[in-house]
Amino acid sequence: MQRLLEISNLEAGYGLIKVLWGVNLAVKQNECVVLLGVNGAGKTTLLKTVVGLLKAWKGKVTFNSNDITHLRSDIRIANGIAYMSELAIFPNLTVEENLKLGGYFKSDKENKKRMEKLYQYFPDLKEYKHKMGGSLSGGQRKMLGVAKTLMSNPKLVIMDEPSSGLSPKFVKRAIEVLDMFHKEEKVAMLIAEQNVSFLDFAEKTYILDGGKITFEGSVSELKSNNIIRETYFGITH
Ligand code: ATP
Repeated sequence: MQRLLEISNLEAGYGLIKVLWGVNLAVKQNECVVLLGVNGAGKTTLLKTVVGLLKAWKGKVTFNSNDITHLRSDIRIANGIAYMSELAIFPNLTVEENLKLGGYFKSDKENKKRMEKLYQYFPDLKEYKHKMGGSLSGGQRKMLGVAKTLMSNPKLVIMDEPSSGLSPKFVKRAIEVLDMFHKEEKVAMLIAEQNVSFLDFAEKTYILDGGKITFEGSVSELKSNNIIRETYFGITH
């Protein structure tokens, strides 16, 4: 399968502090990749560099065979990358305004159709469409974030810890909806997580540790690695 996103030897950081030390990672067309890493491993830094919110110091990012390393963030998004940060939404905008922002580069007609589809999967959002994002519960906010990310009918969804702050019930629902869109619309995904529940629908996994990729492989390879079993699954035998 052809590579949709390819990250080669990527270095980035803040001021004089280097956080990413030559990261290599790839997401194929229609593939779901989960990036695991403990707090401070550099997951957010990596995702922000891929979407252009942070400058790459060194290395290369290609998307759909085009070099996007130094492309403006909005152009990367217009080209088919959708990004959900940990905050996920704009609290001072209504639910519907948040969704419209997710479809910023699409026509009103396309957005209306897409919104109706998303409301079927997120009925709560339809009910609250005139409410401010900031007045929603933590779980509903994340669901709005997921829906907002899917608004643009992206080729690649990049998400930063979609499960953070979510109850197990909402985590299950988020996984179900993402899995459904992954299968139905063949959208590729790169999801940074600490919650191993997300491995249920991953086809490939990477571990980022201290700004370096320390593991790359399938979920079964990950689960059979003793050190990883102990660190991420708490299994010591
Ligand atoms: P978490 O799961 O806690 O969000 P993470 O894996 O996403 O962790 P990053 O947020 O990318 O990790 O942080 C990687 C390193 O970069 C950490 O040591 C962090 O302190 C540092 N860092 C993050 N943001 C900044 C910043 N704005 N200025 C300076 N250092 C930062």
